[in-house]
Amino acid sequence: MPCAAPIGAGGVLARCYHSHVKRSPRRTIPRHLNAVFLDRDGVLNEKKPEGQYVASWADFHVLPGVPEALARLNRAGLRVIVVSNQRGIALGIYSAADVEAIHAAFQRLLGAYGARVDAFYICPHDTGQCNCRKPLPGLFEQAQADFPALSAAASVMIGDTPADIEFGRRLGMTTICIAGDPALHKPGAIEAREMADLCFGSLPQAVDALLARLAPH
Ligand SMILES: [Mg+2]
Ligand SMILES: [Zn+2]
Repeated sequence: MPCAAPIGAGGVLARCYHSHVKRSPRRTIPRHLNAVFLDRDGVLNEKKPEGQYVASWADFHVLPGVPEALARLNRAGLRVIVVSNQRGIALGIYSAADVEAIHAAFQRLLGAYGARVDAFYICPHDTGQCNCRKPLPGLFEQAQADFPALSAAASVMIGDTPADIEFGRRLGMTTICIAGDPALHKPGAIEAREMADLCFGSLPQAVDALLARLAPH
């Protein structure tokens, strides 16, 4: 049953009673975090309407406050890792080189804010062909190969779809849903909200909550 829990003060979504029926108690943000895994479309940049794709830098509209939020994560010493399903490559709508060019341009923009993404991992495959399309764990495994200190238990997954939240849950991460603009009626948004440990209206609000929880050094 859909939950119509409103966004309260600070952008934190009120819990709805359905969640108590559907799942075990929600996790809180761990006080010892070492990495933040981020979905891309709908978290860092505006998600296109269903069936449309971000195929070039001109389509990549960074959401308000995102570069500043990433800079705060960087300064807190957290790894910032983007994990993104890019099925448009398998469909021939754009190429892996197009995605790399978008990410390079985004990284240049972030540089102007003193921010960076430590690594981007993408699944270029269609459904059912690989171990790396979220919610499958392959992108986390790739990240862990590059950054051996990563641990899922000390990581948070931030996304906007059920596949993102399921990816984090299966790995044992704390999961955060970004609700975004309810007027867009994104498919799966309500389900993602129900599955996630926490939900916020935007990435900057989620980052505020994460950093407020971190143990002092
Ligand atoms: Mg997304
Ligand atoms: Zn894949």
